[in-house]
Amino acid sequence: MHKPLIIGNWKMHKVVAEAVEFARQLAASVTPVADRDVAIAPPFTALHALSAVLKDTVIALCAQDVHWEEEGAFTGEVSARMLLDAGCRYVLIGHSERRRWFSESNEDVNRKAKAALKAGLLPVVCVGETLDEREADQTFSVIRRQLKEGLNNIAANDIRRTIVAYEPVWAIGTGKTAIPEQAEEIHDFIRQFIARIHGTDIAAEISILYGGSVNPDNAAYLMAQKDIGGLLVGGASLDPGSLRKIIHY
Ligand code: PEP
Repeated sequence: MHKPLIIGNWKMHKVVAEAVEFARQLAASVTPVADRDVAIAPPFTALHALSAVLKDTVIALCAQDVHWEEEGAFTGEVSARMLLDAGCRYVLIGHSERRRWFSESNEDVNRKAKAALKAGLLPVVCVGETLDEREADQTFSVIRRQLKEGLNNIAANDIRRTIVAYEPVWAIGTGKTAIPEQAEEIHDFIRQFIARIHGTDIAAEISILYGGSVNPDNAAYLMAQKDIGGLLVGGASLDPGSLRKIIHY
């Protein structure tokens, strides 16, 4: 099993100077976290500057998206090699905001995950149901499909390096958190899905993060669940004090 992984997703927040100031404060306050893996996911524009600030700290960098091609005429896009070059270790793929506002499909997610793995980045593949889907009793079928198509044809050795984040869409940025047992049910389902394809040993190794209105008060309850291996934190990661508390849950 991996160490618990905490990723702060800044979304479209912070210019470079703000990001650098934040990273300095955070790095100074969370140095002794040998039992945790920590990353922040700033906007693309701040990645390079942060890689200098975070060098020799325990905090890694995560990008918020990646394109599936290695290079070419794809205006506005950023490749996995560029992200590695900018200092990233992780990349978020298929965040629900990408799916909702930029029409990302499970097939796009699959191509992006493969490109990230090929380049040596660790993909954080996000899945989760909307409120309508949950109320229509479609949670399991939606997540099964996101996993089946999103992780399609990824070899066992690469699945080992893949992180899955369960983020119920109704819990993102809404202040509504899935109750820990509700989240655990889906995490267990995700692990069983991977076990059916790749075997229980590989499934046991996978980190499955929870995301959706995580804050300093609920982090420990969520992390107490057997299959929750880390947290993907949006709003509460924008303040160094609250992110520090979550890291030290
Ligand atoms: C996210 O952006 O992945 C997220 C979970 O956001 P929040 O913590 O604000 O709900």
